[in-house]
Amino acid sequence: VGDSKDFDREVESVCAYCGVGCQLSLKIKDDKVLYAEGIDGPANENRLCVKGRFGFDYIHHPHRLRKPLIRRDDAPPKGLNVEPDQIHTHFREATWDEALDVAANGMKGRGREVAGFGSAKCSNEEAYLFQKMIRQGFGHNNVDHCTRLCHASSVAALMENIGSGAVTATFNEIENADVAIIIGANPIENHPVAATYFKQFTKRGGKLIVMDPRGTALMRYASHMLQFKPGADVSMLNAIMHVIVEEGLYDRQYIEAMTDNWDAMKEHLKGFPPEEMSKICGIEPDVLRDVARTFADAQAGMIFWGMGVSQHIHGTDNSRCLISLALMTGHVGRPGTGLHPLRGQNNVQGASDAGLIPMFLPDMQPVTDDGVRKAFTDVWESEDFSSEKGLTVVEIMDAVHAGDIKSMYILGENPAMSDPDVDHARDALAKLDHLVVQDIFMTETANYADVILPSAAWYEKSGTVTNTNRQVQLGRAAVSPPGEAKEDWWIEVELAKRLGLGWTYTDPSEVFAEMKLNMKSFDNITWDRLQKTAVTYPSLSEDDPGQPIVFGDGFPRPEGRAKMTPASVIPPAEFPDEEYPFVLITGRQLEHWHTGSMTRRASVLDAVEPEANCSMHPKTLRALGVEPGDYIRLTTRRGSVRVMARSDRAVAEDNVFLPFAYVEAAANILTNSALDPYGKIPEFKFGAVRVEKAEAI
Ligand code: SF4
Repeated sequence: VGDSKDFDREVESVCAYCGVGCQLSLKIKDDKVLYAEGIDGPANENRLCVKGRFGFDYIHHPHRLRKPLIRRDDAPPKGLNVEPDQIHTHFREATWDEALDVAANGMKGRGREVAGFGSAKCSNEEAYLFQKMIRQGFGHNNVDHCTRLCHASSVAALMENIGSGAVTATFNEIENADVAIIIGANPIENHPVAATYFKQFTKRGGKLIVMDPRGTALMRYASHMLQFKPGADVSMLNAIMHVIVEEGLYDRQYIEAMTDNWDAMKEHLKGFPPEEMSKICGIEPDVLRDVARTFADAQAGMIFWGMGVSQHIHGTDNSRCLISLALMTGHVGRPGTGLHPLRGQNNVQGASDAGLIPMFLPDMQPVTDDGVRKAFTDVWESEDFSSEKGLTVVEIMDAVHAGDIKSMYILGENPAMSDPDVDHARDALAKLDHLVVQDIFMTETANYADVILPSAAWYEKSGTVTNTNRQVQLGRAAVSPPGEAKEDWWIEVELAKRLGLGWTYTDPSEVFAEMKLNMKSFDNITWDRLQKTAVTYPSLSEDDPGQPIVFGDGFPRPEGRAKMTPASVIPPAEFPDEEYPFVLITGRQLEHWHTGSMTRRASVLDAVEPEANCSMHPKTLRALGVEPGDYIRLTTRRGSVRVMARSDRAVAEDNVFLPFAYVEAAANILTNSALDPYGKIPEFKFGAVRVEKAEAI
């Protein structure tokens, strides 16, 4: 951290990492970021976590891609074999014109043989252009992004039951709550600034109910800690709702006025008495009853959840239960109440809103609706495109294996690390006959590319992002991209021109203006306004800073009524057995971000957490003859990795927790690609694994 006198200018922007969307000021000297400070954004009020404050210098890393690259004719076979000092053995440098021509020629006229993955790390405008290119240019909806791997099941349940995929209240609204449930989330590590609000809430007497198979740092602040068995969410939540019905704790007036399907829900819940469900979820019946009473009796309650809820083959059912719990207790639409899936990446809400998903156009408008498609093709001045929902992330990789998809455009995503059963995805990438990768580093996915387009990092470009709170904020270019790297929107426009789409945008603000034509969520939000302030959508007038709480007077569903959808118990896709006796849970840790391409090149973060590690209970390690710091081998039905063992009492004795940021021990070599049938999200949070002591190398 430099002295404040050291910088020669400062630029205000939004943090590049998580969905909290902290605003920060970047202090710059000689076109380099010296340090970052939190400023007074609506979500962070001057706060930053370690990633926001110290994690910015990846943008100046020597590994940054500086020139377009084309695979050499004499390159070795495609695989994970491109070391930073061997790039020129595999690729040759090219001009932008040549690289864009080769990239476009490998996709042009190939219709359904082409698919695209956009990015939640790009701006709203870039996400919008990406989905437009696939739909307008290739006539179908095979376009997706990492929301498929994080909250797709939450969104499926929210759309089904309240008619909207976004949060009903900002996380800051917890200051008006009496009780809050946080389930399947570890905000102190994954949404650290949001966690500061959760901690403050408990200091003023709020009751925090933490539910998670792994003990989290937040449990120190909890009035109730329910460390339930992995995969038993539906049993536990249905038991809690059973008590609410049995003891008449529900909000009859709210249910009658605002919801549908209550009778079916009540009937369904009879089958989930706490005494029986306790045997499945591992939580004592008295605790389940106490939690039910605490939440239902509160004047104002909120529910927050993370990927511990969503990343299961029953992820949609898990979210259905949370939605029903909030509805039956009337904890939606008032101060201190609400449903809040904590979104992961800095623009995963915005990328989804911008239509970067295979079943929805911008503003979650269904591709199956003829009128909706017409509204877009009228603006785009183009032909109609398919009314069929497109394929999702994992389905696209399956289609590559089946020979149906042969060409892909991947912008800022890293499926060679992030997909479940990742060897399956890596084999698919190697099989493609044309792969265009647009990124800031030579990612594991770029290893398989035919053309690599070097792009600007977040702090090198301008555009809007939407955080977990529905707050739309402007990110500003603070420094220049290295070498010949270009902003993603510019690259998209140049590619589209070569695909014959006739795009003429010269600035992201023009894209934003086009988005507004078919996105009601952006009503009253203008580029000029965003230059001055963040706006929470929906904003009811040009003076309205936006609505932190929505649906107090009805839901965007038939007759304005929400729905309760009963959820039955669906077991995980595989169970531990003699051969694979432990449960594998994958996730993030404070210092590292997703597939590690940014944070492992951020000097402070990498110094704090430099090596792949895995956490197990000390008793389990002792039983295996393993000391903390020893190496262990984890093996599932998909593959095997070697990793350093850590002792952590918060991990249950029959569980293993493995972060997924480390390529040398890629967690997704182990994970199961079984999908939730509604959200099509893989089961990252439950696998059967064997653990053995491994030799140090
Ligand atoms: Fe960035 Fe999230 Fe940390 Fe805020 S909480 S500084 S948005 S990583």
